[in-house]
Amino acid sequence: MSEEIERIKCLIIGSGPAGYTAAIYAARANMSPVLYQGTQPGGQLTTTNEVENFPGYPEGVTGPEMMMELQKQAERFETDVRNGWVTKVDFSGDTHKVWVNETKEIHCDTVIISTGASAKYLGLDSEQKYLKLGGGVSACAVCDGFFYKNQEVVIVGAGDSACEEAHYLSKLCTKVTMLVRRDEFRASKIMAARVKNTENIEILYNTETDEVLGDGQVVTGVRVFNNKTNERHEIPATGFFVAIGHKPNTDIFKGFLDLDETGYIINVPGTSKTNIEGVFVSGDAADHVYRQAVTAAGTGCMAALDAERYLAAKDATFDVSTSTYN
Ligand code: NDP
Repeated sequence: MSEEIERIKCLIIGSGPAGYTAAIYAARANMSPVLYQGTQPGGQLTTTNEVENFPGYPEGVTGPEMMMELQKQAERFETDVRNGWVTKVDFSGDTHKVWVNETKEIHCDTVIISTGASAKYLGLDSEQKYLKLGGGVSACAVCDGFFYKNQEVVIVGAGDSACEEAHYLSKLCTKVTMLVRRDEFRASKIMAARVKNTENIEILYNTETDEVLGDGQVVTGVRVFNNKTNERHEIPATGFFVAIGHKPNTDIFKGFLDLDETGYIINVPGTSKTNIEGVFVSGDAADHVYRQAVTAAGTGCMAALDAERYLAAKDATFDVSTSTYN
């Protein structure tokens, strides 16, 4: 027997900094938000050790701890935080329909999408092992580069992100070895030129990762192979950075929302609005450029404010005067 359909004023999908910030603002604006956490409660930050660049934490904070605090703050204002994964949506009619865990159907006045993006990894067992241990594998140089100050690191990738991250790392680390799988960069000429002209970046073309090496706890090096000659060699390194792109978690919105060629949701510039009225986007699901916790939180705030204004305009009975923005 199917469950009764639930009606929700503001549904937030995703539990990273964007989702929780949207929840804090929506709850304080009397929108009774319901937030579904998804398959990775806390989002990408739960895979980061130390966060030192989020304002307000002078001593730094671990990613999981910060996400627990954000959840607590959202719940303090009575956000209904639920376990569950949104598996399907239908934004074709006046009512925005959402299904959780394939079965539960919800009808929403507003939807805030904060589903984030996932960094792509190579998928090697050794890479995943040290990623899970927090022992030297990272997909974010801006987040984790500082921990490799004055050390030698390896970075994989040849796009704009890899170039930007390699250059960032070169200012902290003694040496950065960049593994490029073809004989050329994908990055724009100017970005590629910047890494080519940086003294402590060594570029190895036609080179792929065979194995991330370590002592069982932390990374100690990388074994690579040349895909033309099949020669293998080891590079000593304490950090292994993967910058081979991100995949926005937006598959379920295909066919309803305007997405760019990589799948990022296209928002109306300067707002959180999507092409569907009442559906808003925040965080990395629409951002392939900045991808920071603090920018995600900022756009979460924007989405809640846009949703509140949308409801106020649509329904005169929604009392915007009781809401609190500060
Ligand atoms: P891209 O998809 O542009 O590049 C991914 C890179 O990773 C490619 O060089 C690709 O190699 C390589 N790669 C993919 N899979 C593997 C693998 N298994 N092993 C080794 N290498 C692999 O992603 P980016 O994140 O760099 O950029 C995404 C978008 O964001 C782009 O449009 C980019 O221009 C933009 N961007 C702009 C910035 C800026 O302007 N400041 C900064 C960062 C991103 P191959 O080339 O062989 O396919």
